[in-house]
Amino acid sequence: METWQLILQNSITTLDGLKSQLECDNTALGQVIANFPMRINPYFAKLIQSPGDPIWKQAVPDIAEMADTVCMVDPLEEDNLSPVPNLVHKYPDRVLFLVSNQCAMYCRFCTRKRKVGTERMHIDDATLASGYEYLQNHPEVREVLLSGGDPLLLPDEKISKILNTLRAIPSIEVIRIGTRVPSVLPMRITTHLVAILKAHHPLYINTHFNHPAEITKESSLACTMLADAGIPLGCQTVLLKGVNDNAQTIKDLMLALLRIRVKPYYLFQADLTWGTNHFRTPTETGIAIMRKLYGHISGMAIPTLALDAPGGKGKIPLAPQYILQKGKDLLFENYLGEVCTYPEAGEGF
Ligand SMILES: *Cc1c(COP(=O)(O)O)cnc(C)c1O
Ligand code: SF4
Repeated sequence: METWQLILQNSITTLDGLKSQLECDNTALGQVIANFPMRINPYFAKLIQSPGDPIWKQAVPDIAEMADTVCMVDPLEEDNLSPVPNLVHKYPDRVLFLVSNQCAMYCRFCTRKRKVGTERMHIDDATLASGYEYLQNHPEVREVLLSGGDPLLLPDEKISKILNTLRAIPSIEVIRIGTRVPSVLPMRITTHLVAILKAHHPLYINTHFNHPAEITKESSLACTMLADAGIPLGCQTVLLKGVNDNAQTIKDLMLALLRIRVKPYYLFQADLTWGTNHFRTPTETGIAIMRKLYGHISGMAIPTLALDAPGGKGKIPLAPQYILQKGKDLLFENYLGEVCTYPEAGEGF
């Protein structure tokens, strides 16, 4: 067995485990674990400095998960937008293809909390085959986004087979993998895995870091190995109350990502997912954070703040408002709050 598999095997998955390894004996959490799976692997557990810190909040269940009366089970209507099981075709030219129901750590705020890590997310060779068939019959799909669960928790041979099968479909130009492995189980990025990924370019990886404390020697090495294999790395961060909902933390995270060659891609407003309401922040929080980034740090380090509209309506960018007045001259504010003008071009001006 490989090192990463051994590490995963020693994950905290039960109330007793929480008690013995994290000194958390809140028995009320038993019902939370019964509803939503928990997996805190030893690597990620070691990043916890104290109970309730940003790492803890992402990994350790909270009784608030059971008290959510606001959010929805499937806020993005993924189940309704799936023409075949586990494949979501929402945008014209790209699909989301769920190929794994396992993750290296079950994030308490997960959008697919309703099914990830449980039997409710059923993936097997038959569902994969129906996905491939759909893609063969839909040449308008230029890009396949592999997700789950975490695709990189599959064994190497399985990943290789999926990538080979997709690459045999000529209309698929780009393969994108969404994975949290670089931040929660970086030792999964082995030289053997990297060689498999590298054989299927153009292949992009969007990973998921939420806090600067996740950037360690190990996660930096994982990203270096991927980047050295020519894989462009992006990051999809989720804005989470009590974890990273302030400008300093987000700024530190984005700059640290850039140093390990990961380009910030999205900063997500939290979805309306049942069991995660306690993580949501007002949209104004995210917009105010963005205002403290634009112009103040490298444009390379700035993600797009996005809200995934409920009902499967797609991702919408949220941005600070710089325009003060439109007309013959455009009146706007710059990043320092100074008023500036730009004479409009065109008819009548
Ligand atoms: C987020 C998402 C995508 C990818 O969107 P991009 O804006 O290209 O990153 C594709 N399909 C579905 C269903 C999605 O939720
Ligand atoms: S790694 Fe992604 S899919 Fe898995 S639990 Fe976390 S947010 Fe959900």
